[in-house]
Formats: sequence, structure tokens, C-alpha cells
Amino acid sequence: MAPDHVPDASLARWQAVSARIEAAVAAAGRADGSVSLLAVSKLQPADAIRALHAAGQHDFGENYVQEALAKMAELADLDIRWHLIGPLQSNKTRVVAERFDWVHSVDRLKIAERLSAQRPEQLPPLNICLQVNIDDEDSKAGCVPDDLEALAGAVMMLPRLRLRGLMVIPRPGNHAALAALAKTHADLLARLPALSQQPFDTLSMGMSDDLDAAIAAGSSCVRVGTALFGPRPVAASNVTES
Ligand SMILES: *Cc1c(COP(=O)(O)O)cnc(C)c1O
Repeated sequence: MAPDHVPDASLARWQAVSARIEAAVAAAGRADGSVSLLAVSKLQPADAIRALHAAGQHDFGENYVQEALAKMAELADLDIRWHLIGPLQSNKTRVVAERFDWVHSVDRLKIAERLSAQRPEQLPPLNICLQVNIDDEDSKAGCVPDDLEALAGAVMMLPRLRLRGLMVIPRPGNHAALAALAKTHADLLARLPALSQQPFDTLSMGMSDDLDAAIAAGSSCVRVGTALFGPRPVAASNVTES
């Protein structure tokens, strides 16, 4: 049934991205449905999320906690799974533990411990991916590969978290980093077999420009913004300064 109340442009872009994912999955000889689409809605208005939700999209990723909370309030009538994919400071962990379903950007134990301690009891455990800094020595975001096993071993013991996988934001065009994250994921599972009970089934990688390569390399979750919503509006702080 074609939802007729969905704006044409949103539906067309969502169908085009879904078709691109299906084609990449087939080309890689992977199982149908093995890659999920996370719609990255940072800086997009709540109405754009509502339109995509009407097309059938339920998972949305946000980078900025305050901005996400405002949209959650506007969209409280919708069944949306909210994913935090941007950097998380310790003074924001409580509200994230209370309001989000996933955090893809955990890169240190202190943040994980706070999220576990602050996750409300009536909610299921919070799904976590560890962000790995595979290829960017200049960036401070992400755990370096040498520290990953210790971090994963500690995070998997936290009672109110489920350690689901790894996430990477490689430098643009660095497809080697995609393969490297897939290998890191497999190696970690081999070294910490108890991870499979979490279950450790998520490789969060691939964006608008490289989702096809990411799927070929084994991604299970592509995070797509521009290809779904069109160009992002500029940040509000830049607009109001004019
Ligand atoms: C913005 C963002 C994306 C989406 O990027 P597009 O190129 O617009 O698809 C994916 N992941 C993270 C972590 C982001 O910040």
C-alpha cells in the first residue's frame, strides 16, 4: 500500500536509498534484510522526520542531544527508535540514558558506566556501539584499536547496557577502514566469545557517499543523512548570527 500522505520527495529519496541498499546487499551475496537503515536527521526539522516515518522509517540518528530532545517532544506520538551518533559528554549521559534506544558513539568507560547507572529500570538495557578510531590520528573521537579489547571487556559487564557492536567514521573515501573495522569486529568476538550473548551483531558504518562500499565490507547498519533528506540546513547558530 503506497502511503499517499507522504511528500513525494521524501518517499522518492527513501525508496532510492532502500533500492541502493538492496542492490549492494545482493551484489555482496549477503542475505536480504541483513543491513538496516538509520536515517540521520541532524539539523533537519521534525516535519522531515515525520514525513520519512510515514514512508516506513522507524530508526533515526541524531548528533546533538539538545536538538534531539526538542524533536522527541514534537514527535512523541510516533514510534521512533532514537540513536545517538554524535559525541557524548558526561554531563549529558542521564538524559541520554533516559531517552535514547541506542548510543553508537561510546569511546570510554566512564561514559558507559554512567549510562548503565542512569538507565531507568523500567526500560530495556541501552544498546551500545563502541566508536573506534581506525584511521584518524588527528581526531580525538573514538577508542584506539589497541585499547578496544579492554574497553569492550569492561562495557560488556555493565548490567544496564547491551554491547551490540562497533562504529566507525572513516576519513572520506577510506574504504580500507571499512574492511579494517569488520576485521576488528570479528577478532574481538573471537577473543571475547561471551560477547555473542549481548548479541554483538552490529557494524555501524557507511554514510551517503560510501554506503555501498560499507555493505560490501560487511556493514549491518548504514547511517544516511544527505541521500535521504537532501542537503542539511545550516546550524541554527549560524543563521541567527546574521
Ligand atoms: C552526519 C552523519 C552521518 C550522515 O552523513 P551523510 O553524509 O549526510 O549521509 C552519518 N554518521 C555520522 C556519525 C554523522 O555525523
